[in-house]
Amino acid sequence: MSNPLLSFDLLPHFDAIKPGHVIPALDEVLAWADTQIADLLDQERPSYASLLEPLALIEERVSRVWGPVSHLNAVMNSPELRAAYNAGLPKITAWSTGLRQNLHLYALVQQIDEGDEFPSLNRAQQRVIEHEMRSFRLSGITLPEDRRNEVARLQEELATLSANFSEHLLDATNGWELIVRDPQRLEGLPDSFKQAAHARAVGDGVCSSGELCWKLTLEAPSYLPVMTYAVDRELRRALYSGYVTRATEGALDNSPLIVEILNKRLELAARLGFENYAQLSLMRKMADSVEAVLAFLEELVDASRPAGQREFAELGAFAAENLGLDRLEAWDVAFAAEALKNERHAVDEEALRPYFPEPQVVQGVLAIVERLYGAKLIPIDAPVWHPDVQVFQVIGEGEEGVQLKKGILYLDLYARPHKRGGAWLFDAVTRARKGDEIQPPVAYLVCNFAPPQGGHPSLFTHQEVVTLFHEFGHALHHLLTKIDVLPVSGINGVEWDAVELPSQFFENWAWSHESLLLLSAHVETGDPLPEAAIRGLLAAKNHLSAMAMLRQLEFALMDMRLHAQSVPVDGEQVRATIEQTRREVAVVPTPDFNRFENGFNHIFGGGYSAGYYSYKWAEVLAADAFGRFEEEGLFDRTTGLEFLHHILEQGGAEHPMVLFERFRGRKPEVGALLRGVGIG
Ligand SMILES: [Zn+2]
Repeated sequence: MSNPLLSFDLLPHFDAIKPGHVIPALDEVLAWADTQIADLLDQERPSYASLLEPLALIEERVSRVWGPVSHLNAVMNSPELRAAYNAGLPKITAWSTGLRQNLHLYALVQQIDEGDEFPSLNRAQQRVIEHEMRSFRLSGITLPEDRRNEVARLQEELATLSANFSEHLLDATNGWELIVRDPQRLEGLPDSFKQAAHARAVGDGVCSSGELCWKLTLEAPSYLPVMTYAVDRELRRALYSGYVTRATEGALDNSPLIVEILNKRLELAARLGFENYAQLSLMRKMADSVEAVLAFLEELVDASRPAGQREFAELGAFAAENLGLDRLEAWDVAFAAEALKNERHAVDEEALRPYFPEPQVVQGVLAIVERLYGAKLIPIDAPVWHPDVQVFQVIGEGEEGVQLKKGILYLDLYARPHKRGGAWLFDAVTRARKGDEIQPPVAYLVCNFAPPQGGHPSLFTHQEVVTLFHEFGHALHHLLTKIDVLPVSGINGVEWDAVELPSQFFENWAWSHESLLLLSAHVETGDPLPEAAIRGLLAAKNHLSAMAMLRQLEFALMDMRLHAQSVPVDGEQVRATIEQTRREVAVVPTPDFNRFENGFNHIFGGGYSAGYYSYKWAEVLAADAFGRFEEEGLFDRTTGLEFLHHILEQGGAEHPMVLFERFRGRKPEVGALLRGVGIG
């Protein structure tokens, strides 16, 4: 095979892709795409079939080259790959922007938009045209040429700035370590944690296996246990400080990037005729206006704050009396919260790990998917980017019980160096009709759980199980779609603030008595989770939930306010907005040295700018949709199939509010969310 990135087989040849393949493949596919577009433009009376169908396929082919590169850059980062990625990024951005700035193409799409064919098209096809027209407008197509070029330049610069932001954060995270040699400092931390931290120190050549030494890092499997369990307050403080000051110094300082990104986004919005970037961002979302989003968030703040203050006061009193902590600092909160949870609900997340070995949890999730939606996932062999990755074939039921191959899911569950933190779903291939064939969808589900150690499989906390359900919810949305119109199939073309509906919705199945029995089997005895532990877990579900809610609302409001400013800002104004929001929302004190924003990759490095509220927005939809299952039965097949048909299968082929109403029979209600977390 010459260049594996140009194979266009359904599954990428991850075993053969090298950084040296990136630029040649990208250049070749972009040159090919340009000729194809030129041919496409050579028509006078375009139809949906003669213009929009081939256009989607051309764009898909480009993304099939760039997709694996972007994915590998996130999960198997290396200096060579990063250099290739950064060299390719401006090319791909310029190409996409150029396509939506092509006046000739715009004129042809406009003809279809205004022509006789439009009313006869199906809703999915109409949505594609609506989205196209919007994309043209948002790329400045109606502006004079010099202004249009400005828009293109700004978009390219913003793509590069965001990539830099993410790189700084990754490098700063990787660059931080704390070597501990005194075992007393690790008091309270689970044995599994100590073994992993010791293995890490030995593996990195810090000490030999016979010595006492442990390497602590800011990666989630190291950071979170320290914050939750370490009795040593100074140790918690050290990791907390490291975490909230990532990317704040020297060459990795993200502060100037934040100001530059915000101001360039504002400039872009202004060029396109918006007052601020938030307005521009909402063009692709369900929410109607910036005011509506701010009002929504503020309503939730008002509803949660009294409960949050009460929770924090109770936590403080508990910590003073039982933990000897007179004043709760930011680095004490998770530790005290865990201790209070143990005291109130007799549940110790860490002690329950042996009940959630990875194979059992994954099998349990698959069993639940089958019961709800009738889809099976079976393991298959395929080239992978790392030996830990598992691959599954999705089998669904078609007409009269015929088994249909519906798609492919990759699972990459463990944290490792040079892998971006967090958990996400990457849509690699989208379901689409290609001639007589249906192309099945492919998705990569990525998490950062602790890897297997000590000869047994990875053991999850229940919180990690919830995360897995969340990402599976996204995966099902992409893989179970029945839409053949590529740009609105699976998670494509779904309004951003509705994307988190299927994911947060599916989390509910990690919280039922019946599911917990399916998901658990003690790694040594095979016993399911004991009744008392199940009762404790379920009772603790809403432990300090108002505090958690307020934290998310703080981030969402911060994001919206930073992007709703209609004049350029400097670093001081950014700080002022952040601090003002904190004063209004937070109940936990934040130390002066906290530079959370320098690590806020969602909005500065990822796609959540003026969109972080989407989590809460979609959580309302998810909680309210789940309400129907509470009424009709968690595993009620009819309700499950209706959710499948009305929501999961529809992808972006209809407006999310319409889909929601079809399933629920009415508009969503905020009260469902508040009740769900025990606040309402
Ligand atoms: Zn999500």
